[in-house]
Formats: sequence, structure tokens, C-alpha cells
Amino acid sequence: MSDPAAPTRINLLDLDRVGMENFFEHTLGEKRFRAHQVMKWIYHRYVTAFEDMTDLGKVLREKLAQHAEVVPPNILLDKPSSDGTHKWLLGMDGKNAIEAVYIPDKGRGTLCVSSQVGCGLNCQFCSTATQGFNRNLSSAEIIGQCWVAARHLGNVPHHQRRLTNVVMMGMGEPLLNFDNVVRAMSVMRDDNGFGLANKRVTLSTAGLVPMIDRLAEESDVSLAVSLHAPNDELRTELVPLNKKYPIAELMASCVRYALRKKRQSITFEYTLMKGVNDQPEHARQLAKVMRKFSNAVQYADAAKVNLIPFNPFPGTRFERTEESEVRAFQKILLDAQVLTMVRRTRGDDIDAACGQLKGQVVDRTRRQADFKRLQNGLPDHAAA
Ligand code: SAH
Repeated sequence: MSDPAAPTRINLLDLDRVGMENFFEHTLGEKRFRAHQVMKWIYHRYVTAFEDMTDLGKVLREKLAQHAEVVPPNILLDKPSSDGTHKWLLGMDGKNAIEAVYIPDKGRGTLCVSSQVGCGLNCQFCSTATQGFNRNLSSAEIIGQCWVAARHLGNVPHHQRRLTNVVMMGMGEPLLNFDNVVRAMSVMRDDNGFGLANKRVTLSTAGLVPMIDRLAEESDVSLAVSLHAPNDELRTELVPLNKKYPIAELMASCVRYALRKKRQSITFEYTLMKGVNDQPEHARQLAKVMRKFSNAVQYADAAKVNLIPFNPFPGTRFERTEESEVRAFQKILLDAQVLTMVRRTRGDDIDAACGQLKGQVVDRTRRQADFKRLQNGLPDHAAA
């Protein structure tokens, strides 16, 4: 039982720089620059105990301990892969868990971050959808994923960074957890935080049109849009959200976003599923959608298509498109002057690929059992 007389402590991972400055000034009655000092202890040196923050006076350290705390997510499982990919299963509140994945590649290191426990959008080819929606993550739980990975990697901001990019492509729909995601992305880009360049933090969405417009106004990150089909009939089948925001409306919001963020390209993700959306006719239709977008925004390489070979998971009815057909699909787009890349699959041996992030929300009984097992440190297969 918690003591009702005890002051509630604020988890500093929940605050961005402005929030920290306000907290120091108004709650603690301290100078704002103290907020920056504490952020550097947390995000540059991975120190969470105020008593170890040696350039703060004793009185301030005690005041901090009374009003605040720094609580990163619990690491339940820590799984390195043979190709350098690394996956963490993180405990959030004693009940829920989510996954974050680190993918190193030629001079950069990308962390794939989750925004919700589960997801409610029900995209047909995504394993998170099979788990349903549980709840939004707090800012602390979102930035906490970066903190855990960066500390593990010995990441030093501004100096030989190991963590160079963040993509909000883990579990959940980030635009349905707008405030917490925007606040966490602000810490990712803050010099007192992880100091990443704006274009190295990417938000990926299934296409919530009004929220794309709000993002354009309130944040300055890269945008990725999960398209997956070039016509409404097929897209509604794969991404049910398309019924509410069909392709024409979605693309119009992308045009508004691109025009507002001059010279920033938008990435369109397209997961290739055998015999479903991978035919030459689909590629030609997609090229048309992309050309229309580029003509509307009128700058070179405004759109990038990212082809993702489907990653299978147990129980799915979809299959991965053959390599040769992926190349043929790409060629049709390239011939139509659409910048198109094929995403390499990584972390196969630890189920760390796109759309395979799980967490622990399968069903409540199973989830509780899994959680207890993990807390007791039992191996994965012990659940079966
Ligand atoms: N809700 C957001 C972010 C999470 S999904 C969004 O929809 O963009 C991140 C990316 O992984 C999306 O492009 C998604 O469509 C893709 N993805 C999901 N399941 C996949 C699978 N089984 N194989 C390959 N890519 C998948």
C-alpha cells in the first residue's frame, strides 16, 4: 500500500525539456539550467539516482529525491541476434510488456520503438493486430525504450553515436497516442536528450489524416506512411482504417505535410504479400499514385517507396513475395522515376523483423502467466 501522505513523485522521463524547465522553476523554485544538467545526467550518462548527480548541491539533490524519480522500463528479456540486431522485452507496469528492437547497419543504428501496448487498427498482415489493443504508453515508457537501448550500447550523444536513428515502427499506432509520442520524440531530438537530427526520427502511421495535419503543425520529424495497396478496394481489405481515410484523402494530407516541411521526403511503406498486392498491375497503379504526389509537391525525390517483404508469423494467411518478383515490382517503380528501396530483413533468428513485435497482450490469462514466467527468469519455451 502506498502512503497517502507521501508526495507523488514525478517520473522525469515523462517530461521534455520545456516540462523539465517548468518543473525546476515552478515546483522546485530552481534555475532552469538545472533542468538541462539533470537531463544530461539521465540521457548522456544514464544516471538515475539523484545522489550520483555530483554537480548538483546537496539541498537540490534532496529536494529532487522528494519530488521526482527516474524510472526506466524493466528489462524482462534481452536478446541479441547473430546479425547484430538486438531485441528487448520491456515490462511496463507489472502487467504489460512491449518490445523494442535495435538494428545496426552500415554506420547507422536504428531503434524500432513501440507507442502502444497492442494496437486497435487491425491491419490484416500485422502480428500486433492479433493481440488487440491494451493501452497507450506514457512518454516515459516511450523514451525509456531509447534509454535502455542507448545505455546498453554505451551510446554517447554527439560523439560516435551507436544510436543514430529512431523509427516509431514497433507496436501500436503512434498518431493515436499523439501527445506522449510527440513529447518523447522531442527528447529524442533535444541536445540535452539523445540529440538526434529531426530527419533521423521517423513516425510511421497507418494513415490518420487529421493527425498527420496536426503533426505537421506541432512537430518536425520524418513521416512514413503505411500504404500497402495502390487502390481503395485492396487497401480497405488490408488496412481497415482506409474505409475512414481513403487513399485520395491520405495522399492529400501527405501533400500538405510535404509542402509544410519543405525538402523533406515522405516514405511510403509497402509490405509485399504473395499474390495479394505484388502484381505488376499493382506496381503500375502505385507508380501513378506516387507520380501524382510528386507532381503536387514539386520537388525531386519527395516520395520514397520502401518495399518490405512480408514477415510471416504463426497463424497468418499471407506469404512472402519471391525475391525475383520483389525486384520486378521495384523495377516498374524505378522505370517510372519513383525512388524505391527494398528493405532487408534482419533479426530473423529473434523474431525481430517488422510486424513481428509482440509484447504480452495475447489474452489476459496467458499474458499474466507469461509475465510471471518472465519475472521468474524462466526461458521462453517454458510457456508452452
Ligand atoms: N501503426 C504504424 C506503425 C507500426 S507498423 C503503421 O502502421 O505504420 C510498422 C511497419 O511495419 C508498417 O509499415 C507496417 O505495415 C509494417 N508491417 C506490419 N506487419 C508486417 C509484416 N508482417 N511484415 C512486414 N511488414 C509489416
